[in-house]
Amino acid sequence: MKRLSVLGSTGSIGTNCLQVVTAKKRQFDIRYLTTYRNADLLLQQAKQFQPDAVAIFDETIAARFEPKFRQIGVRVYAGFAGILEISRQSVDIVVNALVGAVGLEPTLYALQKGQRVALANKETLVLGGQLVMAKAKAIGAEIIPIDSEHSALLQCIVGETDNAVCKIILTASGGPFRNRSGSFRDITVDEALDHPNWVMGPKITVDSATLMNKGLEVIEAFWLFGIEASRIDVVTHPQSIIHSLVEFEDGSVKAQLGVPDMRIPIQYALSYPLRLPASFPRLNLTEVGCLTFEKPDFEKFRCLKLAFDALDTGGSATGVLNAANEEAVKLFLNREIGFDQIPIIIEKALARGESNGVATVEELLHTDQSTRRYVQDNSW
Ligand code: MG
Repeated sequence: MKRLSVLGSTGSIGTNCLQVVTAKKRQFDIRYLTTYRNADLLLQQAKQFQPDAVAIFDETIAARFEPKFRQIGVRVYAGFAGILEISRQSVDIVVNALVGAVGLEPTLYALQKGQRVALANKETLVLGGQLVMAKAKAIGAEIIPIDSEHSALLQCIVGETDNAVCKIILTASGGPFRNRSGSFRDITVDEALDHPNWVMGPKITVDSATLMNKGLEVIEAFWLFGIEASRIDVVTHPQSIIHSLVEFEDGSVKAQLGVPDMRIPIQYALSYPLRLPASFPRLNLTEVGCLTFEKPDFEKFRCLKLAFDALDTGGSATGVLNAANEEAVKLFLNREIGFDQIPIIIEKALARGESNGVATVEELLHTDQSTRRYVQDNSW
């Protein structure tokens, strides 16, 4: 029986994770849960899974709900400090499904204890890849990706020797605007939130529409698999059936396929290196019919290009990219800027050149904060 903490249990990955656990009650035991502010759902989850403690990021909501959790014998921690408290509890696997840069420190805390981190929080690696991978190596703790593309890559690489990998090929659905011609200026929030294949939270859905999601995944793959950017390719694959591919030095290419259902990579991250039987929907190739591939348009989707540029620059540039993107997406979701302004803002933030070497978490978070202020204050 593996003991689990699920950070961000009320989000899209978190609720899928709890579904996986519900179907595998003998293998996994939920000990800790956290939410940003969805305390109603957290309370339901706490009643179902009887964790030792929970954390609620929003301190006002935490104070309001504390008596309800107390009634069922569950301790409540509040604020970011509460999330950190949960991430340093002893369990076997910490599922990090937090959204945004706040996910970095909990990953480091969990690794410090030598626990496996099942990682859905992209920003952990985009912001702190160097520190996080060094920490995992030093402690001997595992980071197993939940992101479907990286889970696919891991599944292709398992059993191969390190130096056999020649190229990594990340697939991208292309998002809702793959075939949209002309200016992106008039794209509405509703259009951007209407993803063709995946049901996800709003931030990542917008990132999928700009292809920034794929850019962040390129950076994730760079750190997770220790492969230089020139050997990472992105190919548009609108059906989202092949989740990614690995080309080996003998020219052989392995792909991982499956229906687009996050429960598959989530369960693999929990059961790795084993596979567990599951009743997830199965892939029916004749129903899918055809799988197609296209080159992504770097001109139209500038966010993807900017991600490669930031990776080239190195240091904290990918952190700047991420912070500027998060803030620009917020402005777009609040209908304060147009869809086409997202890459413009990010490019300007990167051009400030605030991307020095990476030494500490404090420095990373300082750059993160100053980039956010730059975007929020309309300095661009
Ligand atoms: Mg993905």
